[in-house]
Amino acid sequence: MPSAGAGRLNEFDLIARYFTGKSPTRADVVLGIGDDGALVSVPAGMELVLTMDTLVAGVHFPAHTAAAAIGHKALAVNLSDLAAMGATPAWATLALTLPQANSGWLADFAAGFYALAHSHGVALIGGDTTRGPLTITVQAHGFVPAGSALRRNGARAGDEIYVTGTLGDAGLGLRVALGEVSLAPADAQCVRARLECPTPRVAAGLVLRGRATAAIDVSDGLMADLGHVLTASGCGAVVEAACLPLSPALSGWATANERWQLALTAGDDYELCFTVAPQQAQQVQMDLAAVGVPATRIGQVTAQTQLHCLQPDGTPVALSQAGYQHFSSRV
Ligand code: ADP
Ligand code: MG
Repeated sequence: MPSAGAGRLNEFDLIARYFTGKSPTRADVVLGIGDDGALVSVPAGMELVLTMDTLVAGVHFPAHTAAAAIGHKALAVNLSDLAAMGATPAWATLALTLPQANSGWLADFAAGFYALAHSHGVALIGGDTTRGPLTITVQAHGFVPAGSALRRNGARAGDEIYVTGTLGDAGLGLRVALGEVSLAPADAQCVRARLECPTPRVAAGLVLRGRATAAIDVSDGLMADLGHVLTASGCGAVVEAACLPLSPALSGWATANERWQLALTAGDDYELCFTVAPQQAQQVQMDLAAVGVPATRIGQVTAQTQLHCLQPDGTPVALSQAGYQHFSSRV
């Protein structure tokens, strides 16, 4: 496409300066950035997993968020989707829409993006650069052995439900970032890091591949995302509020009910929620621990199709909001 004129740096200078020659070298990239398209080779016996996520300033991150955090998060949310499919990340493309080409901003954005790309061996193989309201779209590509991808539709009644890491931190981090909540400085820093620099659970996805019956990454809130698994699988579930894994920062905040609301409905944690047959659950949990990923049992899949979260006294937690939906008619 003709350049839309991204500011003082022209489009080609910008690509050359910030995005060319910075990726890890991969033998499967035949031709990377610089031609009309990239050329890659998919290893024999593997299926290609494709996923795409867009971050819009003011919608997915507060407009003043640090550029390095935006660069990290734009790739992280895509690697999280690959993790939820049980895929090994390989390549990415990047569509960057910028209000202006600010060198400092671009250098920081690229540093955040490439630090995460290098830690997962991901090569940036192409993209597009245009002028407009700040919007970042990444498409990530990964491999799974043919037929072995984790899907949403395999949960069965009796399966145990697990979640990696802790829930609700990014939601609390957003409230801190918006000035709605104040925490001790160390706690504030922890939850803001969860919001701005999420860790995609790539290693966990690989452990779960071929073993979890279903998996999803928690981007829109546990109840919403687990709900997608249950709908796809034709099941329901009971989640135990007292089992929800909470970080020390969240554990020390507000009332039990307010903590559960965040853990159940706040988005952006990018943990994996998965279901597993009871006889496999303990071994899977141990294998996750061996790659440094804590996983907590939070409930069980049921044949009846409702999803409930029960308090210790057996009554359901009343949810104050559903998971995040862009075109929701809620007012
Ligand atoms: P075309 O005009 O053929 O669409 P472009 O001028 O948009 O090509 O891009 C030139 C090259 O730079 C292509 O290889 C494209 O994939 C790459 N590219 C453009 N923008 C980005 C970006 N933000 N990140 C990575 N690669 C990019
Ligand atoms: Mg183009």
